[in-house]
Amino acid sequence: MSSYLFRPTPPNPAAAGPPAQRRTGGVYLDPHLSLVRPVLPQTTHSCQECLQLGSTWLHLRLCLTCGHVGCCDSSPMRHARGHALGIGHPIVRSFEPGEDWRWCYVDETYV
Ligand SMILES: [Zn+2]
Ligand SMILES: [Zn+2]
Ligand SMILES: [Zn+2]
Repeated sequence: MSSYLFRPTPPNPAAAGPPAQRRTGGVYLDPHLSLVRPVLPQTTHSCQECLQLGSTWLHLRLCLTCGHVGCCDSSPMRHARGHALGIGHPIVRSFEPGEDWRWCYVDETYV
């Protein structure tokens, strides 16, 4: 598979410092979660940038820092990714009914 070597857990985890503690018990502690705020969606059910461009989108993602609504990576324009990486708001959550997962565009992982 890979050349990654498993190392035993240090006897005193606190001494290992923050970087080694980003994965604890399978729960990913994303440093960008500090950017998450209580937000109100700026729009409902549409990607404003796609509307202006006359483009279409598949699914919507809600920026959890400012409430920006953009389209997902399966959409042609990927406005949620553009917003996340362009403005520095990497944490989004799904804006689809019945979905409540969160994603970090920097770490490329669910958070
Ligand atoms: Zn992150
Ligand atoms: Zn869009
Ligand atoms: Zn934002």
